Amino acid sequence: MQKAKGTYDVYGEYGRKVKALERILEDLMQVYNYEYFRTPIFEASEVFHRGVGDTTDIVTKETYDFKDRGDRDMTLRPEGTAGVVRSYIENKYYGNANVPSKLWYYGPMFRYERPQSGRFREFYQFGVEVFGTNDPAIDAEVISIPVNFYKMLGLKQIKVHLNSLGDNESRNNYREALKAHFAPHLDELCEDCKVRFEKNPLRLLDCKVDCDLEVMKKAPKITDYLNEESKKHFELVQKYLEAMGIEYVVDPSCVRGLDYYTNTVFEVEASVEGFGAQNVLCAGGRYNNLVKTLGGPDTPGVGFALGFERLLTALEYEHINLIDEDFIDTYIIPMSENEKEFSMSILNALRSLGFKTDIDYMSRNLKSNFKQAERLNAKFIIIIGEEEAKTGVLTVKNNNTKEEFKVKLDDLVEFLDEKLDECNCGDDCHCGDDCHCGSNCHCKEEK
Ligand code: ATP
Ligand code: MG
Repeated sequence: MQKAKGTYDVYGEYGRKVKALERILEDLMQVYNYEYFRTPIFEASEVFHRGVGDTTDIVTKETYDFKDRGDRDMTLRPEGTAGVVRSYIENKYYGNANVPSKLWYYGPMFRYERPQSGRFREFYQFGVEVFGTNDPAIDAEVISIPVNFYKMLGLKQIKVHLNSLGDNESRNNYREALKAHFAPHLDELCEDCKVRFEKNPLRLLDCKVDCDLEVMKKAPKITDYLNEESKKHFELVQKYLEAMGIEYVVDPSCVRGLDYYTNTVFEVEASVEGFGAQNVLCAGGRYNNLVKTLGGPDTPGVGFALGFERLLTALEYEHINLIDEDFIDTYIIPMSENEKEFSMSILNALRSLGFKTDIDYMSRNLKSNFKQAERLNAKFIIIIGEEEAKTGVLTVKNNNTKEEFKVKLDDLVEFLDEKLDECNCGDDCHCGDDCHCGSNCHCKEEK
C-alpha cells in the first residue's frame, strides 16, 4: 500500500522540524495576543463553495467534494477562512465585547491540485483572521505577522507585495474598465480566462497562462480606480507598515485568487536560492463582505494564510536549523529481568516529576545499553543490578564525564536536580555561541 498522490508522511528529523516550527508559532501568537481557533476538517459543501467563491480555481477545480452516508454534500476544508467565518457567525462571536476578535488557526487543508514541488493535495496552513474592525492599522499588524515570523526564523529576502482592490464601488468601476479593456481581445485569451471575463473579470489578472500577453500587461490598474475612501485606507496601511519598519512594494498585479477580498490584499514572497516558481509563502487580505455574505451581520475582516511546507523548504534551502540536539535526562538499565519491576517503579516516578527518562526494553547487555544511551543522548545512566535493587543504592553514571556515583534512592531526585543544573560540557564548551550541553546549561547567562 502506498500513500495517496500529493500527500506525505511526517517522521524523523522532518517531524522534529515540524514540531519545532509549531512551537515557535504558538509562542508568536501569544506575543501578538491572538486566540486559538479550530474548525472541522469537513463541512457542508455550501460553506466552502459559497465562502471561497463559486468562480474561484479552488471551488471549480480543486475541492474534495463527496457525499456522506446520509447523502449530504460534504467538502474537505480547502482553506481556513470560510470555516472560521461560518463558526464566527454560528457561535455568535460577533457579540463578544472583546473586539476586535483576533484569531489564529493551524491545520491541514485539501485541494485536488497537480502535485509538484511546494504543491500538495494535503498541506498545512497557519493563518489568522481578525474580525470587527476596518482600522487600516490592523491590516498592517496582520501583514507584520508573517514578515516577523519569517525574519525571526532567519529568512532574509522577504518581499511583501501589496495592493488594494478597493471597496465595492471601486471594484465595480474597475470591473467595468477591465471588461472594456479585454472585450476586443477575447480570442487571445485562454479558455479559463474567457470564463473569467464573463463571471469574474478581476480574476483575469491572476491567470498564470496569459500573464505575459501584451493585453494583460496593458490592463488598467485598480489603483487608478480607487475612490477617496479606499485610497485613504490604502495610504494608511502603507503609512503604518512604514512606521513598523516593514518593507513592501505596491504591486497592481497582486489580485489574489479568492472572491472575498476587498481593499488590502498582499502576498509575501521569499527569494531563496533553489526555490522554484512556488515562492509565495503567504497570502491574505481584507474581506469586508464575507461575514455578511455567509449570513452574519455586516462585519469587516482581515487575515492571511501561510503554507507550512513551503516555509520548511525555504528554511532548508537557507540551511536554517530549527532543532536543538535531542537529549534525555536519564536512561535506566535493569541488569536482568529480576530488576525490571524495581526499575519500572523508578522510571514512572522520575517521569512523573518531569525528568525526561527512558529504559531498556530490549534486554540488551551492558555494552549495547551504553551504546543505546549514546543514541538517546542520555545525560545520566542509572544502572540497576541485584545489589542496587537490594540496597536501594543506585549506580548513576554521568554519561558525559563518565563519572560514577552511588546514590541512595531517597536522594536520587535531589542528586539529579543538582547535577542536571550544572554544566557538564567541560573543556569542549562552546557556550556563548553554540552550546550543545543541554537545556540546563547556564553558561550563556554567566558569560
Ligand atoms: P497558488 O497561487 O500558489 O496556487 P493560492 O493562491 O492557491 O496559491 P492561498 O490559497 O492563498 O494560495 O494559500 C496561501 C498559502 O498556502 C500559499 O501561499 C502557499 O504557501 C500555501 N499553499 C496553497 N496551496 C498549496 C498546496 N497545494 N500545497 C502546499 N502549499 C499550498
Ligand atoms: Mg492555488
